[in-house]
Amino acid sequence: MTAEPLALPEDTKDWTWVIAQGCPECGWAPPPSTEIALRVRATVPRWHAVLRRPDVAARTRPERWSALEYGCHARDVCRVFDGRLTQLLTEDEPTFADWDQDAAARDGHYFAEDPATVSDAYAEAAGRIAAGFDAVRDDQWQRRGTRSNGSEFTVATLGAYFLHDLEHHLADVAG
Ligand SMILES: [Zn+2]
Repeated sequence: MTAEPLALPEDTKDWTWVIAQGCPECGWAPPPSTEIALRVRATVPRWHAVLRRPDVAARTRPERWSALEYGCHARDVCRVFDGRLTQLLTEDEPTFADWDQDAAARDGHYFAEDPATVSDAYAEAAGRIAAGFDAVRDDQWQRRGTRSNGSEFTVATLGAYFLHDLEHHLADVAG
């Protein structure tokens, strides 16, 4: 059993501005909504390659997640956002349940997960939400919902925000 690594300082930054402005850190620009599913699917082989690295569980800096921990995070982001997408499409102006990503990493013991299992689970979770975005009709992209901190999302901005998270963390691990 690997020893539990240091707890990270919580990431309290609000990243919603990237939806309109793009991300100077990773060079990301928001794509047309109809390309979200395609771009999500394109992350699957990239995460797969990252999760096959022999040093995947090593933290290059103690205060940053390992590539394995980032992969687990990306898998869980797909699951959480798939739930939020379903809520937006089936409920009128839903509020999303809070999701504490740092608690998820800690309580889920991301550092101790099996990379091959994570890779398979990522492919499944990413495929499911990509199919969800594929099925969005033209008249549904502007359906609205609210995060528990008050940030407002539409289907279109939720998709952009979600895609950025996957692609930004690939940049974090040079994947
Ligand atoms: Zn970014």
